[in-house]
Amino acid sequence: MKELPDYSRRGFMRTSALGLGAGMGLGLGSFEALAQTAGRDIGTGQTPPADPLERRAAGRPEPELNGTLRPTPPEQRLGWAVCGLGHFAQNYAIPAIARASEAKLTGLISGNRDKALGVASAWGVPEGSVYDYRMQALADNDAVHIVYVITPNAIHEENVIAALEAGKHVFCEKPFAHNSAAAQRMMDAAKAADRKIMIAYRAHFEPNNVALKEMVRKGELGDVWYATSDHHRPLDPLVERDQWRMVRDLAGGGSLMDIGIYSLNGLIWLLDEVPERLVATTFSPQTEDGRFGEIEAIGQVQLVFPSGRRASISSGYVADKKRIDLWGSRGVAVLDPATAYSGNKLTLSNADGQEMPTPSKASEQQFVGEIDHFSKGVRDGDEILTPAEMGLRDMRLLEAINVSAERGEWVEVNPDGTMR
Ligand code: NAD
Repeated sequence: MKELPDYSRRGFMRTSALGLGAGMGLGLGSFEALAQTAGRDIGTGQTPPADPLERRAAGRPEPELNGTLRPTPPEQRLGWAVCGLGHFAQNYAIPAIARASEAKLTGLISGNRDKALGVASAWGVPEGSVYDYRMQALADNDAVHIVYVITPNAIHEENVIAALEAGKHVFCEKPFAHNSAAAQRMMDAAKAADRKIMIAYRAHFEPNNVALKEMVRKGELGDVWYATSDHHRPLDPLVERDQWRMVRDLAGGGSLMDIGIYSLNGLIWLLDEVPERLVATTFSPQTEDGRFGEIEAIGQVQLVFPSGRRASISSGYVADKKRIDLWGSRGVAVLDPATAYSGNKLTLSNADGQEMPTPSKASEQQFVGEIDHFSKGVRDGDEILTPAEMGLRDMRLLEAINVSAERGEWVEVNPDGTMR
């Protein structure tokens, strides 16, 4: 049995000395009264506050934690090494690992050792746990369980396979790869190494997206026979992180590959079905800086689902807007913004067009949520909600979209994304 804290024992001595009369006067049995006045309530198992007459520092009972979960003790958290120390890694991924309950940052992988050593000292990673992209010595580091790959899309394959060969599980940024063949090779390598891969589709862990998914599942929007999803953000050729996005060989495509994937993956997840037919168009305007010379600026796709519902999705590298609309018979749900890093908002309108407020939920939870999810998946064998298979399916669907845009005709696809 758990030993009583000190203050309870002191309270017990004092209250016994003062007499049991008060407790017995309340009609309690002598043992119950003794235990209660001694600081322990037998019935509820709760410990009442320490003696208020005690005017000195005293141990107090456990406070209410307001639903705040205690993090897993550091020695039980899984060690994460971040591969690629660019904009997203340093601004979002590493801080999220530091906030996570089930993860800790234990390694870094970079092609620029000076930069990596600076990051290591800021986040408390030992110098000996900083590796280059070959990752050979990583195999000997038992403090690293998972490698988080955050490099340009076409570099993912090289990094993911090196991490798997070092015996590590992999958390890979979206899009999984620059094409489906690369995605398949990574999955084959994971199977050979008996390691897991999860794709960083953070919207699946974003509280407003999750709330909408739950509404659809419960049928609260009625029949949703039409949906739209639009993801646009300006591409700036002067910003370093946008320069590789202008090169097809590194990015694998344009706005469709980069952010149109949120439109596509988001609707498939929310509606819980994969389209069976699609038709697409793309547009690459001529600009003086030539930023759309190799990639599409605008992508537009019509989707037909097995249930018959229709959807229209778009992506763009010009405007700045990320939005999802589900058009239901009982109401319309709008996520705007839908997939921002923070401040996503879900608004509902009933069939009469009246807007109903929905509580806003902290979007930042998405980053920690996906990291903790994969840590638990690796440690406890829990199901991975956004597995490599989903990443491969989306690569195939993007390829079908490109085929349709090139041919200018409808194409038919299977549930695994392959073209019929
Ligand atoms: P970035 O350019 O800021 O970072 C890329 C990193 O990869 C840099 O540290 C760079 O040094 C390194 N790198 C290695 N080989 C390279 C090469 N050959 N060319 C260029 N860089 C090379 O890019 P980013 O915006 O951080 O994007 C990185 C990845 O993260 C992409 O796959 C992107 O789709 C993904 N991303 C995801 C989100 C999200 O919300 N989940 C947001 C932004 C980016």
